[in-house]
Order: sequence, then structure tokens, then C-alpha cells
Amino acid sequence: TGGSSRPFRVVLLGARGVGKSAIASIFAGAADSMDSDECELYGDEVCEQTITVDGEKATVILVDNWDSEDEGGSSQDQCIQTGDAYLLVYSITDRSSFLQASELRISLRQHRPAHHTPIILVGNKCDLVRRREVSVTEGRACAAVFDCKFIETSAAMQHNVWPAFHGIVQQLRLRRDTK
Ligand code: GDP
Ligand code: MG
Repeated sequence: TGGSSRPFRVVLLGARGVGKSAIASIFAGAADSMDSDECELYGDEVCEQTITVDGEKATVILVDNWDSEDEGGSSQDQCIQTGDAYLLVYSITDRSSFLQASELRISLRQHRPAHHTPIILVGNKCDLVRRREVSVTEGRACAAVFDCKFIETSAAMQHNVWPAFHGIVQQLRLRRDTK
């Protein structure tokens, strides 16, 4: 498939402190290793980047403004309505963030009733093994119930963060191709 398609808007959701901005900065830093592609930043909260997934380029706009919006306010509603796909982040060291991810999954279902909105449940901080409060099994089971993919990441160790972005692009393409 040739030609450039519309950018994919991917929204980071999750409790404060789980590592959303750390994940976003890895995404933003992708340009550092190459001198050609440069991340276009629109403020700190939105970053547009063209990445290659399965040999095909994809332009992704990553949105990290969840925490700066008023809780339960209309801008949070808007944030939850405007994504093409979502990374639902919790910290494996913080059970309450895991419960909040579940609540967010329910809000997403209410706001985005259309099926097949790509969502990945992301258990971040998996480097902090001794502080783990949520097991891999629980994370995976939750994702199965919520009908979404699952991955554990460590933004600190730069572990599995790119596979998460690639996974969301793959899901977006599948959805686009079956429309
Ligand atoms: P946000 O509120 O969701 O945007 O979370 P931040 O990205 O600001 O991260 C909150 C804190 O967790 C910061 O001190 C980060 O350095 C730390 N942090 C983020 N990701 C990881 C990770 O994967 N492992 C560890 N050990 N710390 C992390
Ligand atoms: Mg943040």
C-alpha cells in the first residue's frame, strides 16, 4: 500500500504518576538517533512522529494531556473521545492505578461504543520487581475481560515501549483495512 494516510491519534490515559510522560518522551526521542526525522512538538503534550512499522511508514500523533485536564471535566471527555487508539497505562507498583485503568476502560466503552477501538493495557514500571502489586496474570486477565491487548513496559529501562507503539499501529491498520 503506497501513499500517506491520515495520522493516527493515539491518546495516553492513566492515573497520575504511572509513567505516561516517560513513555511519551521515549516516543518524542525517537528522532534523536536519526537526523532526518524530527519530532514535531506542539507544546509538551502532543508529539507527531513518523515511524516505520512492518516496513510501512505511519504518522502517529501521541497525546499526553490527560493529567492537565480537569478531572471529570469536559476537556477530559473530549480527550477520551478524540483518539483513534488508546494506551491505557497503570503502574505495576500501584494497585489503585490498575483499578483506575479499569474505570477508564469502562468510560472508553461509554464514549466510544463502536467496537474495535484499538486499546492496549500497559503495565508500566516492570523494572520495579520488588514493589510489584499487580501480577502479570492479573494484568493479562484484565485485558482479556476488557477485550484489549496487554503489555508490560519499563519506560525507565526503555523496555517494550516501542513494541507497544508498534502494536497500536498494527491494530489501527487492521481496523482501517477491514473498514
Ligand atoms: P505521569 O504522571 O503518568 O506522566 O508519570 P511520569 O512519566 O511523570 O512518571 C512518574 C514517575 O515515575 C517519574 O518519577 C518517573 O521517572 C517514574 N517512572 C516512569 N516510568 C517508570 C518506569 O518504567 N520505571 C521506573 N522505575 N520509574 C518510572
Ligand atoms: Mg505526565
